[in-house]
Amino acid sequence: MKIASYEQEGVRRIGVVRGDSIVDTGFGGSMIELIARWDEVRPAFEKLDDNGALPLTNVRLVAPIARPGKIFAIGLNYADHIAESKMETPQRQVWFTKAQTSINGPFDPILIARNTVTADYEVELVAVIGKRGKHIAAEDAHEHVFGYCVGNDVTERMWQHAGPQWSLGKSFDTHAPIGPWITTADEADPHTLDLRCFVNGEQRQSSSTRHLVFDLWQQIEHLSAAMTLEPGDLIFTGTPGGVGAAMDPRQFLKPGDIVRCEIEGLGAIEGVMEAEA
Ligand code: ZN
Repeated sequence: MKIASYEQEGVRRIGVVRGDSIVDTGFGGSMIELIARWDEVRPAFEKLDDNGALPLTNVRLVAPIARPGKIFAIGLNYADHIAESKMETPQRQVWFTKAQTSINGPFDPILIARNTVTADYEVELVAVIGKRGKHIAAEDAHEHVFGYCVGNDVTERMWQHAGPQWSLGKSFDTHAPIGPWITTADEADPHTLDLRCFVNGEQRQSSSTRHLVFDLWQQIEHLSAAMTLEPGDLIFTGTPGGVGAAMDPRQFLKPGDIVRCEIEGLGAIEGVMEAEA
């Protein structure tokens, strides 16, 4: 099932996407509440009929989860990106956070912050946690995933590398576009998905989640050794090679650039870069 958050005539709703249409679920709570109550809610969602379905083009899709409790992202998790970053393959997983306030709609403008010139893209598979858990073993981790969406781990490279801690450079407003909807875990294998990123139609990244260094199950085991994972928490699973910072010469995003990230079976998100006012 594909579950979207959308706005229609100023009202925020949760809908089920079927082909090019969206069906309102009538669910009154947030996406995080929906995820927490999924076992109870799912049968009614499956029975929704298409009466009142709207063309997707008639609604404004917004970030499927507006305020995730946590956003964690792994660095250096594809061999080609490690090589282009001139780093060693890490022996332990390298994690950083992105601020809640960096969440952005799937088709909303992405802001280039004042006095910065090194905005860069990173297409990533994003996993959405379903069932809460601590000390989750890798072999059980799949039971804790609600679904998947496309993410762009937009990064301010100068801020990222200003010190050993990357989180500020990863946390600028609008720098976590996600969407276009959540595809439930039963409909996707997180380790066989092709993913691509385009800037103004030019392909910059193209890989497969087959090439993850640490797979999603290892990531969940590692994170949940430190903290309780809760419904709606997001895990950005790493980016493949091809980022602008590694091009020769380096290519950073400029106002007007259009960045499109797509993952097989999960859809595509696309935002125009805009200078922050
Ligand atoms: Zn990343």
